[in-house]
Amino acid sequence: MLAAGPVVGLTGLAIAAAGGAVGAVLPDLDVRDTAHPWRERLTRAGAAALLVGALVFDAVGGAFLAREAAARGAGTLLVGAIGLAALACAARLSAHRSFSHSLLALAGFAAATHLICPPLAPYVALGFATHLVLDALTYRGLRLFWPLAHGFSARLCKTGGVADACCLVGALLAIGVAVWRTLP
Ligand SMILES: [Zn+2]
Repeated sequence: MLAAGPVVGLTGLAIAAAGGAVGAVLPDLDVRDTAHPWRERLTRAGAAALLVGALVFDAVGGAFLAREAAARGAGTLLVGAIGLAALACAARLSAHRSFSHSLLALAGFAAATHLICPPLAPYVALGFATHLVLDALTYRGLRLFWPLAHGFSARLCKTGGVADACCLVGALLAIGVAVWRTLP
């Protein structure tokens, strides 16, 4: 949303928020066994709700996204949808913080989204990249250059700790400022 800036208006911010939220939850498709399954479900449901909300907002405000997608043509949309489904399956089946947390997956999801709806792709990529950066700060790290085995970790904090909470509060404040600056 901050990348979109106040000039895009509320519809633009809704699109940025939805794309960013979807991109941010995609890497953790590889999370299967978690101590807090409701947290994962809530995060995914929140991103899905933001996407649906943005599509409704967009439809009411001139259907910019729908027209962009329609302009792609049926063949391109089909290739993009198959690509997204294949990437989601690969992410779901991969070991935690391997393929789905790599630059390859980031490029793949961004490219598949671009085939379906170009305006959403930068925000999906940005949300995805933000997730990778935050995970890279943790002790566990991630395999950024998958399929290379070498892991990457800044070893600064643990997942779910105080740093996590500070990032969440900072992000919510930034969202509040972005919306406030956009309001007429
Ligand atoms: Zn992750």
